[in-house]
Amino acid sequence: MPTDKKPKAVLLYSGGLDSTIALYSLVSMGVDVIALNFDFFCTGSNNRVYQSVADNTRRLGVNVITVGVDNEYLEVLKNPRYGYGRSVNPCVDCRIYMLKYAKKVMDLEGADFIATGEVVGQRPFSQKVQRLMVIDKEAGVEGLVVRPLSGKLLPETIPEKKGLVKREAMFDLQGRGRRAQMKLAEQLGIKVYPTPAGGCLLTESAFGRRFRDLKKYCRNFDLKDVLLLRFGRHFRLDDKNKIIICRNESENKAVMDLVSDEDTLFTAVDHKGPVGIYIGDFSADSMKTAASHIISYSKAPRDTPVKVKFWNKKSTFCSVIEAYALPKNLQHKNLI
Ligand code: SF4
Repeated sequence: MPTDKKPKAVLLYSGGLDSTIALYSLVSMGVDVIALNFDFFCTGSNNRVYQSVADNTRRLGVNVITVGVDNEYLEVLKNPRYGYGRSVNPCVDCRIYMLKYAKKVMDLEGADFIATGEVVGQRPFSQKVQRLMVIDKEAGVEGLVVRPLSGKLLPETIPEKKGLVKREAMFDLQGRGRRAQMKLAEQLGIKVYPTPAGGCLLTESAFGRRFRDLKKYCRNFDLKDVLLLRFGRHFRLDDKNKIIICRNESENKAVMDLVSDEDTLFTAVDHKGPVGIYIGDFSADSMKTAASHIISYSKAPRDTPVKVKFWNKKSTFCSVIEAYALPKNLQHKNLI
């Protein structure tokens, strides 16, 4: 008996151009879409990405589920089975993680299939056809993933066999170019999407350096340690001592919100300046070096001793020491 029930899909939706095209195509095919947005390690163009997610889903009346980074993802990041890409981006394992997550949402929401904005051959590491199939198999979603942008080039999926989506309504995009996508965006009436600049922080070399340093010197690092890598300037003073110095007011605030009650903060007394985080052995030498660093980034005079306070939010520790600002030529020494 014919039914009026619309097919339902869970779309991995980043807000980028490709997944926005996937979103619009699915909606135009009459699919009821739930947008699953993984808010992991977005970079610079953050605002445009968030704006794209908010605007496009609102315009189409699509519900969004936002997923933050958690301890399960941390395990993926620490030990990816398929290794890292050009920096510390575990793309294959990350896609497996996302698809597994999408499958859980699919089952919970009674959806029929999963969809992504992936384009065959766009990223050498994770988007070759064979690799896409391996990823689906590992995630336990074989045959359940519709990729509208390259659907015509891929093996037939279960939703196609069931008649829930039509192959003719999908596209045959492949490779790294963006021109075809921009043309499609125009045809589909997509008005808001971010520029390709920005993206995933895990692909950036600066973040990669910090993450590798963390892995090397801190055996049992946790989620907070990784999240702190996004903020400030990081200095490795020696094997046991590292400091982070915030770059502006908004970083000061973000870091203050993120650190635990026991973490040690430090800042110049009586002078405007940044907040720092001290991760170390509390030796007199390391604290003095840390103090010199933070004075260098404050408004304190450079030629007189300045007091620097080390404390924690719990108020179980407070220590004030005096130090001088570092000479300019040493200021960036030890920067990770
Ligand atoms: S670029 Fe970042 S978010 Fe995208 S798959 Fe790779 S690690 Fe995951």
